[in-house]
Amino acid sequence: MSDTPIIDMHHHLGKEPDYADRLAAACERLGIIRVCLVAIEPGCYLGSFGGNDAVERAFKQHPDLMLGFGHVRLGIDGPQKVSELKDRGFTGLKFIVPARPYDDESFFPIYERAEELGMPGLFHLGIVARQEEGHHVRVRCHYMRPVHLDAIARTFPRFTIIGAHLGNPWYEEAAMTARWNPNVFFDLSGSTLKYRTPQFLGELLWWDSTTRYGSPDGSHAWEKIVFGSDVEYYEIKDVLHDYEVVMKANHLRPDLRSAVRYRTAARILGLQVG
Ligand SMILES: [Zn+2]
Repeated sequence: MSDTPIIDMHHHLGKEPDYADRLAAACERLGIIRVCLVAIEPGCYLGSFGGNDAVERAFKQHPDLMLGFGHVRLGIDGPQKVSELKDRGFTGLKFIVPARPYDDESFFPIYERAEELGMPGLFHLGIVARQEEGHHVRVRCHYMRPVHLDAIARTFPRFTIIGAHLGNPWYEEAAMTARWNPNVFFDLSGSTLKYRTPQFLGELLWWDSTTRYGSPDGSHAWEKIVFGSDVEYYEIKDVLHDYEVVMKANHLRPDLRSAVRYRTAARILGLQVG
């Protein structure tokens, strides 16, 4: 399975004190050369994952493997939070459960700062799991519809945006947003690869540089897809397997497979592409 290197764009730090070490060992076994640790601040809906402080400790302990995506709470934090996270060594930003739709203009100074500082943003999209401990947080899934990324991407063309879960269940919005915006990418983490068929995904991700209707930068649809696990370290292998199944069933060329596994993520993260 580890024929080309893999970058995991979407991983959360578990609560166990030695989680980062266990994750590092799993990455070694699976051929994962970089893993993005996506923070969710305590008290912000999902309390069982590592927040900014825990993620910072982990990526400073494993600097060759782990990168940090710091949580900016939309509706609470301002653009200075983006600068603070940059100064602390975070590579990118995480957004989830915004107080208003993602494309609300009151959030634009945050995206503008991210663009200025070259920090990609990973946006949770679509439905979110229900957690007892987060009952005090207002959750409106329609604020996290993928089409909201379109206005952000057009306004801030140098801000790189990664949408999680291909927008589950709003897949068509996600695919068209990816097609029209060279700065928008998606991962396929979550339940999608378990309940949607390879054929369904192939129909959504249909365009390439030769089709009558393509994308403005001539990219292939699968070049907009990155690998993200979004499970605990011991389940990453299962998600990788699901990605392989869907890529094989859609007869992806080797260069597109490596784009999904590594190349596109490396470009987003500014890493040397091998
Ligand atoms: Zn996640």
